[in-house]
Amino acid sequence: MKRIVVVGGGHAAAQFCASMIESKEDIQLLLVSDEAHLPYQRPPLSKTYLKDDAPEAALLRAASYYADHNVAVRLGGKVADIDRASQTIGLEGGERIPYDVLVLATGTRARTLPLFEGGHANVFTLRTLDDAARLRERLQSAQNLLVVGGGFIGLEIAATSAQLGKSVTLLEAAPRLLGRSSSPEVSAYLLEKHRAAGVDIRVQTAIDRVDVQGEAVKGVWVGNEYLPVDVIVVGIGAVPNDDLARQAGLACDNGVVVDAHMRTSDPAILAIGDCTAFPSAALGRRIRLESVQNANDQARCAALTVTGKPAPYTALPWFWSDQGAVRIQIAGVPEQDHVRVVRGDPSQGKFSVLYFEGDVLTSVESINAAADHIAARKLITARTPIPMERAADPAIPLKDVAASTAA
Ligand SMILES: Cc1cc2nc3c(=O)[nH]c(=O)nc-3n(C[C@H](O)[C@H](O)[C@H](O)COP(=O)(O)OP(=O)(O)OC[C@H]3O[C@@H](n4cnc5c(N)ncnc54)[C@H](O)[C@@H]3O)c2cc1C
Repeated sequence: MKRIVVVGGGHAAAQFCASMIESKEDIQLLLVSDEAHLPYQRPPLSKTYLKDDAPEAALLRAASYYADHNVAVRLGGKVADIDRASQTIGLEGGERIPYDVLVLATGTRARTLPLFEGGHANVFTLRTLDDAARLRERLQSAQNLLVVGGGFIGLEIAATSAQLGKSVTLLEAAPRLLGRSSSPEVSAYLLEKHRAAGVDIRVQTAIDRVDVQGEAVKGVWVGNEYLPVDVIVVGIGAVPNDDLARQAGLACDNGVVVDAHMRTSDPAILAIGDCTAFPSAALGRRIRLESVQNANDQARCAALTVTGKPAPYTALPWFWSDQGAVRIQIAGVPEQDHVRVVRGDPSQGKFSVLYFEGDVLTSVESINAAADHIAARKLITARTPIPMERAADPAIPLKDVAASTAA
């Protein structure tokens, strides 16, 4: 019986197990995760989890699901190495586990700031349930929160903490929020919204010096200004957990390099989710994405590969982020050199930014505009030519724009 070992306990690993179960193949499946919890929903950690009175981990599947389907689960087991010659993995502590097929679903880890190296009791990053539990506890008695980084996770934490009545300052080193992933229109809208919600956002601003007293950071200097802090959250992005793959000599390039079937440079090893650098058919280049959609769809793709029914990964990327009362949804991968058209009125709190290459819609960012997002996913996939001026007209439902053209 084929022995399949999955390294990781996140969205990709859980979906891979589910897809293998659905395939009804006669296999032995083992999931090894260094976390102490069964795979759970990560997105709530920066949103509801921090503010709920009695938050619970939202497990992706109950313990009985794994047991009922004979999936062996090994929690708290960090995989330390892969020996490709003997087709075994080694756990910290020395135990070796054989595999016929190995699936790396190791995700990412939070990027850290050298300023805070060495660790301080009140400086946090947020990646895991345990991180969220620690942060949540510390936040209860805190008043002044400093968030470093104006990306999705930093903004979500800032919004949630402001809702909790905390005094929140957010520093972003770049000239605008979400500078690497969103349009200037969305950045400007979010800046205004977060400021209106009471978050003191400062762009093009970095910490100059840190005031450490004992184990904690008591404040930071920004230029000549001293900001007292109770809690600091560093949200400056994530780096792929591709170390295991690198040590094993697999091709890596900002993530584990995979082909369109999720195969690494070793035919017995696949990789899925946030940790992969994969060929994007739409963009014509290798990219790495951090989203639940990508993790789930790559997991399904890998299961097809393993079961001998390979189908290339062509799923349209999509993503969401909840920041206070604002829901951002993105379909496709925004390319900043594509032509942008704004549909709707940002001052009304509901609009979309459409990206075009010629008359083909390539990506859409929607703010509180779920219908646009759903329509965009279909239009982008279909690559039907669309007149920009019709698409920009909020009086015409986006789903009808292409049909109207044909008529
Ligand atoms: C706070 C937060 C909010 C988010 N919000 C959103 C959102 O709103 N929308 C969205 O689309 N995405 C969101 N994301 C991103 C989303 O959670 C990730 O894209 C998704 O979790 C990726 O799944 P994955 O399985 O590839 O990686 P992960 O979920 O990170 O899982 C990787 C797993 O591998 C384990 N692991 C790593 N190395 C080893 C090892 N050597 N041995 C054993 N186990 C190992 C890790 O501990 C972890 O359990 C958010 C992420 C965070 C952290």
